[in-house]
Amino acid sequence: MLKVEHIGIAVKDFTVSIPLFEQLLNTNCYKQEQVASEHVNTAFFQKGTTKIELLESTTADGVIAKYIEKKGEGIHHIAFEVEDIEAEMKRLQQAGFILLNEQPKKGADNKLVAFLHPKTTNSVLIEICQEIV
Ligand code: ZN
Repeated sequence: MLKVEHIGIAVKDFTVSIPLFEQLLNTNCYKQEQVASEHVNTAFFQKGTTKIELLESTTADGVIAKYIEKKGEGIHHIAFEVEDIEAEMKRLQQAGFILLNEQPKKGADNKLVAFLHPKTTNSVLIEICQEIV
């Protein structure tokens, strides 16, 4: 793993949270993107080499909507950048971690992503991601 690439934060409403984070971080949101397969809208902010990814559900029963219903708004996942996602998935699986997806999938921000089940990572949802070149 190379570094923390971004921290994902679940929010209810972009019209509230994007201006809030723009003010907080003193930088403009540089990208908004819908990931239709995950029923989620994403909004990105960059500070140095680390990003903040806001996540807003596009449906009432989407994964982010359910998360907020259960736990409220807040930190949803931590994403680490990797050089070779398939090799890293294999390494993690062999080390006993449970992957939520068997194959890397297309995420937001031009990335291939995979998630680890929180029950094997001290209840922290971990994403690994690799830039698509
Ligand atoms: Zn993410």
